[in-house]
Amino acid sequence: MDRSKLYRRFRTLLIANRGEIACRVIRTARAMGLRTVAVYSEADRDTMHVALADEAMLLGPARARDSYLNVERLIEAARKTGAEAVHPGYGFLSENAEFARACFDAGLVFVGPTAGMMTAMGSKSGSKALMEKAGVPLVPGYHGEAQDEATLSKAAEGIGFPILVKASAGGGGRGMRIVRSAAELEPAIVSAKREAKAAFGDDRMLIEKYVDNPRHIEVQVIGDSHGNLLSLFERECTLQRRHQKVIEEAPSPTLNAAQRETVCAAARKAAGAVNYVGAGTIEFVSDGKDVFFIEMNTRLQVEHPVTELITGIDLVEWQLRVAFGEALPLRQDEIRLNGHAVEARVYAENPTKNFMPSVGKISTWRLPAETGGLRVDAGYREGDAVSPYYDAMLAKMIAWAPTRDVAIERLNRGLEETDVRGIVTNIPFLSALMTHPKVRANAIDTGFIERELAVLTQAAPAPGELELCAAVAAVINEEQQAAHAKANSPWQTFGWQPVGRRQRSFAFRVGHGPEQKVMLNYGSGPSTLVIGERELAFTVAAKDGGFDLTLDGVKSSVAAVIDGHELYLRTRNGRFDLHWVDPFGGETEEQTGEDKIAAPLPGTVVAVLAEEGAKLDRGAPILTLEVMKMEQTLRAPFAGVLKSIKCKVGDIVQEGVELAVVEPSGE
Ligand code: ADP
Ligand code: ADP
Ligand code: MG
Repeated sequence: MDRSKLYRRFRTLLIANRGEIACRVIRTARAMGLRTVAVYSEADRDTMHVALADEAMLLGPARARDSYLNVERLIEAARKTGAEAVHPGYGFLSENAEFARACFDAGLVFVGPTAGMMTAMGSKSGSKALMEKAGVPLVPGYHGEAQDEATLSKAAEGIGFPILVKASAGGGGRGMRIVRSAAELEPAIVSAKREAKAAFGDDRMLIEKYVDNPRHIEVQVIGDSHGNLLSLFERECTLQRRHQKVIEEAPSPTLNAAQRETVCAAARKAAGAVNYVGAGTIEFVSDGKDVFFIEMNTRLQVEHPVTELITGIDLVEWQLRVAFGEALPLRQDEIRLNGHAVEARVYAENPTKNFMPSVGKISTWRLPAETGGLRVDAGYREGDAVSPYYDAMLAKMIAWAPTRDVAIERLNRGLEETDVRGIVTNIPFLSALMTHPKVRANAIDTGFIERELAVLTQAAPAPGELELCAAVAAVINEEQQAAHAKANSPWQTFGWQPVGRRQRSFAFRVGHGPEQKVMLNYGSGPSTLVIGERELAFTVAAKDGGFDLTLDGVKSSVAAVIDGHELYLRTRNGRFDLHWVDPFGGETEEQTGEDKIAAPLPGTVVAVLAEEGAKLDRGAPILTLEVMKMEQTLRAPFAGVLKSIKCKVGDIVQEGVELAVVEPSGE
């Protein structure tokens, strides 16, 4: 085929995506002088990607299938705005051959491979068959057409347990189940198929030998329409949770130079088998000795920035140049590896509540400066809302340094300097990962996070003297600012000290823990704080985002955010969430509601796992909800009897709605 029909110069680019990746693509496209068009759903009117683009067009309702997955509307948006090319980002339609085909049919340049290459490599089964022929090493398994139960279970027996059941069309770790014995096979297939059907509209499965304690190593490739194909070194993405990457780095700290060349050569061979055009990733698992091909992603990947930082190449720029029909600007021997880069994915989720997605308005969004080797790719701003409809990734933080140790140190520092409020994020969990001695020592495998979960999600330390004093300082600071804001307030005249008071007592608590009391003494001399038996001299100097607190002669910096009575502090000892118990507030102990079996977020009931009247142990599964594309199983909060089920499979339920009632059995 004449490739000039597919790849040619264009001036207006439509980005068929949202969030962080849409912002990332827009930035480079604009720097290259292109006009950019954003598309959005009804839930995304006021988002960052819409604000960044030159033009924007509404696709439809919030649900992805009515908006970001609606091919017709996307093509129409391109036509209406005069866009000549489409960048699909990742996720959504990025690996959808029909979409690439629809773009071509509408006369648009699709920034990516051809529909044919996508069809060949997009399905895990198809690509494995191809790689087998090309002589690329594979994980042993079954990737045939026949999908009946007998065939699948015979294949599983033949491969030998443990095995992995995988959705051929899968991505993001979904539609995948580890099976350790024949008895577990059937239920695993049923649930993997259900998840795959819902997520990808395709429930074909393949079966693979499960490599125990593996590492994930992948190679970035890029090809042009003139027959050039380059590998841009490898990334290691072994730190995963539920088969989904959490931390990625480049180069792999596990490989030596010879192994690096072997895996990169295998990747070039894999992509070469389809004369690949565009950016892509060849993924492998490694048992510590050899690497085995698992899949190709025919698109840009979330973790592409680590490759950019060690090669100095802007991958989006190269994608666009390839789409213009240009030849790649460098030869293989001109690609240099420089230093080390590490990336962390920042999600709106609660690691202490089984990583439940968190939705709401971002009230505080403070990111570190992008200096000293730090880069932040964000898709949200302060005041933006995180909706339950899409992926919960908010941003990525990436650090570069000459060595791995320093890159990790810089990344951790960046994470520590990030303050996000209004929603729950995984930042403390990421910090715990980056400081874990086994991560520092690269003594990890893909099961590491699951095994170390207790350590990684440990509750924050109890507030000490410094934090209690900082809490008092934060309250005072806030009151002073409020007073300054009100012109006629008597507080302005008298500062924050009500006339005649010489002492003020404060109480704080963490969660439902005990109250901790602090007495503030002030008068003509320097103020002091009394905690228990100790009396401490202190001074406070307000600054941006917090204050400097000098306590007993030692000055330290405190970041503080106050939201009503909730204080959020970051001191040299870590992050602290405190509740200020207002003596005049007349507070009562709030209902926790944790015993209620209710929808934590809006979702769809996909399975009911227990019958009314059943005796349940504590933790017994009751029903499964699909929330933000992930399955969440709701369990019995205590041992008891399942009194009633208030929903059925297929119900769409709103947040907080009670779905089942369990009566405690009374032990
Ligand atoms: P994979 O996990 O498929 O090997 P990546 O690591 O590149 O590949 O992750 C792709 C994932 O990114 C998708 O499966 C999806 O969950 C997530 N994603 C898709 N679109 C977006 C988006 N706009 N913003 C943030 N995350 C997204
Ligand atoms: P996805 O499209 O969801 O990214 P992959 O096939 O890339 O699916 O698998 C996701 C992750 O699952 C891999 O990064 C790896 O950690 C793990 N995995 C995949 N295949 C195997 C296997 N055969 N043995 C062990 N782990 C595997
Ligand atoms: Mg993958």
